[in-house]
Amino acid sequence: MNHIVIIGCGVVGATIAYELSLIPGLKITVLDKQPPAQGSTAAALGVLMGIISHKTKGKAWQMRSHSIERYTTLIPELEAITKRTIPYNQQGILKLCPEGEDLAKWEKLAAIRSEQGWQLELWDSAKLKASCPQIDCQNIPAAIYSPQDIQVDPVALTLALVDAAKSRGVIFHFDATNLQYDLTTANLHHVVKSVQGKVIDCLVVAAGLGSLQSLPNLQIPPLLDIRPVLGQAIHIRLPNSLGNPEFQPVITGNDVHIVPCLTSNPVTDYWIGATVEFPLESGQVVPEAEKLEAVRHRAIAYCPALAAATTIKTWSGLRPRPEARPAPIIELLEGFSNVLLATGHYRNGVLLAPATAQRIIKLLDSFLVS
Ligand SMILES: Cc1cc2nc3c(=O)[nH]c(=O)nc-3n(C[C@H](O)[C@H](O)[C@H](O)COP(=O)(O)OP(=O)(O)OC[C@H]3O[C@@H](n4cnc5c(N)ncnc54)[C@H](O)[C@@H]3O)c2cc1C
Repeated sequence: MNHIVIIGCGVVGATIAYELSLIPGLKITVLDKQPPAQGSTAAALGVLMGIISHKTKGKAWQMRSHSIERYTTLIPELEAITKRTIPYNQQGILKLCPEGEDLAKWEKLAAIRSEQGWQLELWDSAKLKASCPQIDCQNIPAAIYSPQDIQVDPVALTLALVDAAKSRGVIFHFDATNLQYDLTTANLHHVVKSVQGKVIDCLVVAAGLGSLQSLPNLQIPPLLDIRPVLGQAIHIRLPNSLGNPEFQPVITGNDVHIVPCLTSNPVTDYWIGATVEFPLESGQVVPEAEKLEAVRHRAIAYCPALAAATTIKTWSGLRPRPEARPAPIIELLEGFSNVLLATGHYRNGVLLAPATAQRIIKLLDSFLVS
């Protein structure tokens, strides 16, 4: 039986573990230095910008479309196995277009999506006003509505993935610090023979920002560099739902999302976020209160009712961003024949987790013994 060890139990590692657990004949172990969903995943808003993204071909689009398709079956599947509710919003994503936005570009994208079998609607300001009266339409002549894009609670999703994977025999250790590896060399490539004294066939590194540190005694190629980009967000409460209580899509405008919290019915709580803060030259990333306030004001500018909201909490997290190369990194670690990287998902780790698992499964196919 092939033994696969996964390092990291954020949304990416947990999704890989669950999807691998559906393949017969694998022994799967997940190691994390802390409980699941504590890293970047704990801070994510779970907005899955798939159909509404500008990617139309190649790997980037395939990963998005695969993930959106898989989520429609994955979430109900996990809910059935775990008997847990995973809050997820199926009312779509609405993107506000300010004056000057190139609407021809969106029309073209909507036509491409239609050919690809997806839906994208262009709304004029009358339709926007009627559907979302909470929006101040003065400077917003149009909006793009993507009914098939979803939002999911990233922590609830990850915990359900862990429970479902456990029920299918995956072993989890959440106190795995100081990881020890035994190596050998074959055909000029390093091979990880064992982790923490246990013999393995393949190592999958899904440790987000900690990916390189999780491989302490391995020789990592110098070009592999993952840096933190900080994001802050706010949880707010209102006396009533924004707009129509029956229509509560994620609304995004001014590069700020307003995300309905589906834990109450009708919805009265919303997440607002997030900032995008790059590290200083020293490599440090410190949350700046003014940046979070700027996000709040950008949201109030298009949704004035938010000015009356009570702040329930604020939080921040670090996104793992690959330096000088596109996100994410899903490949064989250079110089090794059995170490796969599934990391550096930057702003889209929740969105791309199912497609990441699919690509890891394809890569595994080529070197596991059947
Ligand atoms: C404010 C904010 C908003 C976001 N919003 C969205 C969004 O709307 N949609 C979206 O798709 N994405 C969003 N993201 C990005 C998303 O959160 C990340 O891309 C995603 O969570 C990455 O998941 P991961 O599993 O790779 O990493 P993580 O969640 O960071 O998990 C990595 C795990 O590895 C473990 N680990 C690290 N080092 C070691 C080690 N040495 N030994 C053992 N274990 C180790 C950690 O403990 C952790 O559990 C957002 C991020 C932030 C900060």
